[in-house]
Amino acid sequence: MLQIKNFIGGHHVEPGSGQYLENIEPATGRIYSQVADSDGRDVDAAVAAASDAFPQWSRTPASERSRLLLDIAARIDANLERLAHAESVDNGKPLRLARAVDIPRAASNFRFFATAILHFHSEAYRTDQLALNYTLRSPRGVAGLISPWNLPLYLFTWKVAPALATGNTCVAKPSELTPMTAHLLTELCQQAGLPPGVFNVVHGLGAKAGAAIVAHPRVPTISFTGGTATGAEIARTGAPMFKKLALELGGKNPNIVFADADLDEVLKTSLRSSFENQGEICLCGSRLFVEESVYPAFAERFVSAARQLNVGDPLDAATDQGALISKNHLDKVTGYIRLAREEGGRVLCGGKTPETLPERCRDGYFLAPTVIADLPAECRVNREEIFGPVVTIAPFRNEEEVLGWANSTAYGLSASLWTQNLNRAHRLAEKLDSGTVWVNCWLLRDLRTPFGGMKQSGVGREGGEEALRFFTEPKTVCIKT
Ligand code: NAD
Repeated sequence: MLQIKNFIGGHHVEPGSGQYLENIEPATGRIYSQVADSDGRDVDAAVAAASDAFPQWSRTPASERSRLLLDIAARIDANLERLAHAESVDNGKPLRLARAVDIPRAASNFRFFATAILHFHSEAYRTDQLALNYTLRSPRGVAGLISPWNLPLYLFTWKVAPALATGNTCVAKPSELTPMTAHLLTELCQQAGLPPGVFNVVHGLGAKAGAAIVAHPRVPTISFTGGTATGAEIARTGAPMFKKLALELGGKNPNIVFADADLDEVLKTSLRSSFENQGEICLCGSRLFVEESVYPAFAERFVSAARQLNVGDPLDAATDQGALISKNHLDKVTGYIRLAREEGGRVLCGGKTPETLPERCRDGYFLAPTVIADLPAECRVNREEIFGPVVTIAPFRNEEEVLGWANSTAYGLSASLWTQNLNRAHRLAEKLDSGTVWVNCWLLRDLRTPFGGMKQSGVGREGGEEALRFFTEPKTVCIKT
């Protein structure tokens, strides 16, 4: 059975403990590989390798760093099938989705930051005839990069690429539930000739390996994507050490449909925004609000379309929705469906394991797309992140009412707004507490835009210039003239 080792100083090495964790295929419930169960010893070794590599890498010309990152992007493209298959097996997501979205976007991340760094510039200010000020931006050293399991390679590379482009070295930890594509990336980086120690990967549990990265005194920068509770824990450790933190956390995103919207388009996109990747995308719309005049007909069409989604083997080309990430997570999500019933909700479809699963997937972690009605905006199911194929649906009377509901959670990651009324779109976009507002679309991304959440969805922004600034330290030089 494959043992996924750490990647430190350019070599694949055993964890100090000699121990491995089981890596389970969510679609079958079977162990299919093992992953290093790392601890502080491995993090120390990785930080030492990254620190040794930093002086040279930070002085490497931007054009050379760019060339290497473009080479890695090309290798991701060339290995699309292999990476997509690994991601689908590791995560339970449809192979079709990994092939069309996750892996191409991982290559885009490298390509984007490889070229962005060539245009990165700093500012100069003339103070009358007195002085000239300019800003130097330098890489900060060893970056600690910690990513979740839902879009494994995409979110991992969203951190690795800007950190390396700006001349930092890194110690990165993918989720222990989906280590495979990060492991394959280490091979591609070796083949591309990335200097040893620039990119290090330590696998293992968050509370052990992740916490050791966050607490390490020689890691001044932490970029984390994951749950809000974990983000709070990381802030508790990192803030008193004055680390620079970017925290991309959970969401409970509203999807708001006005009667004047193109309802065919809303239906098509809302099915995706509710259930794509089993609803395990932080940007999924999990609260669907529909203007009351079109609510009954729209709700009926939406439920009927959700029922027709094909839940099955992720490797099957006809599958729309695969397996949830783990038994624990499936239990958590079904626990919320139970809670919804207790809170007075009516399950309009789903709520259980589909009966038509193929033999291979009998012990996998599947849940049919679930739509729940009749829940008040303030109940727990409508306030807490479920992170599965579960969406609540409710009618609203007017703008004011729906805005109040939309903004009523502790989260503020993204929102979708469907209307043909341009004034209303601008008005509401400004008033929604969300890092991103999509109008008549969902999940369209321009990598130049700032990305991140408000309130408990996170602090700091990634994307474009924001990421290049995050990974560099500004210094003002003031020269008297
Ligand atoms: P998680 O917080 O459990 O784990 C994320 C990563 O942090 C994993 O690598 C884990 O091993 C590590 N970790 C766990 N405890 C740690 C600790 N104490 N110290 C350091 N590292 C630790 O999250 P998850 O279950 O993997 O991912 C799902 C969550 O991620 C959801 O809440 C989702 O909304 C969020 N998410 C947010 C975004 C975004 O951009 N805002 C994107 C994707 C996912």
